[in-house]
Amino acid sequence: MNIHEYQGKEILRKYGVAVPKGKVAFSPDEAVKVAKELGANVTVVKAQIHAGGRGKAGGVKIAKNLEEVRTYSKELLGKILVTHQTGPEGKEVKRLYIEEGSDIRKEYYLGLVLDRATSRVTLMGSEEGGMDIEEVAENTPEKIFKEVIDPVTGLQAFQARRMAFNMNIPAKLVNKAVKLMLGLYQAFVEKDASIVEINPLVVTGDDEVVALDAKFNFDANALYRHKDIVELRDFDEEDAKEIEASKYDLSYISLDGNIGCMVNGAGLAMATMDTISYYGGQPANFLDVGGGATAEKVTEAFKIILSDENVKGIFVNIFGGIMKCDVIAEGVIEATKQVGLTIPLVVRLEGTNVDLGKKLLNESGLNIVAADSMADGAQKIVGLVG
Ligand code: ADP
Ligand code: MG
Repeated sequence: MNIHEYQGKEILRKYGVAVPKGKVAFSPDEAVKVAKELGANVTVVKAQIHAGGRGKAGGVKIAKNLEEVRTYSKELLGKILVTHQTGPEGKEVKRLYIEEGSDIRKEYYLGLVLDRATSRVTLMGSEEGGMDIEEVAENTPEKIFKEVIDPVTGLQAFQARRMAFNMNIPAKLVNKAVKLMLGLYQAFVEKDASIVEINPLVVTGDDEVVALDAKFNFDANALYRHKDIVELRDFDEEDAKEIEASKYDLSYISLDGNIGCMVNGAGLAMATMDTISYYGGQPANFLDVGGGATAEKVTEAFKIILSDENVKGIFVNIFGGIMKCDVIAEGVIEATKQVGLTIPLVVRLEGTNVDLGKKLLNESGLNIVAADSMADGAQKIVGLVG
């Protein structure tokens, strides 16, 4: 789960990480009011969307007076911001962060990630901050430093100091940088984050070490114990189909293709997508209805697939183990009755109650193409979609 920059900075403040003063605003009037309260010489108006690259896309504006705060706020609110992280369709700006301007002397990069290769939280830092860290990693990987953190001891002060020196933080500011890193690590662990990224971390003209940007990503499996984080969820930033799917506990991820997939089990779902691709098609989604799905759940899953207007055909590929084939068949029939089905549907059922499932489908009067195997089904749906 992602949150906005201003929400991330709110968390950082609680952990003693230095961040500039600022507040969220939903309208130009509110933005001006916040700017007045801040009373800074320079105010920064920042578009809040769940994507980075806002600076380059014109989503971060430097305002020299209240009039400019109003102008920029009007300009940004309602604007579709296209950054290298939003995809070509962009994201509409609905919230602004109004922040005091920092006198930036230098920009650095600092991040904490869960490194799955070592199963350790890893601190990453570089003096090449403020721009695409991916490019630095690609072209000059030696400029990115890492500290692998032992989960028992946590981030040690000596590691943070070594990082600060490697990043070429001015010697007299190393202690401030260390304090910031330790706070950052504590926030990461206590909030069950999977990514915390500060890009840029800055050293200011008055010798402060400040987090100027904040990106948080949280482990969805740990959200049950972080009600405060769940409250920060912004549904405007998420795919409507994925929100709907999460209500029914379905693992659904929307993709770019035109063949809707309904599968049980993540492994089979991945294999189904691969097989469709192998025969020249493109899956419209990943969908795992899970092991113990009910007919209702299958119905909802089917409706979600059909609500995607790019879908030109559906491939149902179910192995009935815990999940019984007749339950799947009932769900498919119920859903097509509710939604109406005008596009091709290929069904491959195998496993428990397969004969009953097939019988239900055959007697339903629906126009269903039966498949004998995964390869057969994939070829058929690719052929039908064209
Ligand atoms: P993004 O990563 O989405 O581009 P950032 O928050 O990193 O957004 O902002 C982009 C750039 O804007 C920063 O690298 C920094 O140069 C400038 N900037 C952001 N916030 C401030 C601020 N409070 N004061 C001065 N400059 C800022
Ligand atoms: Mg940034």
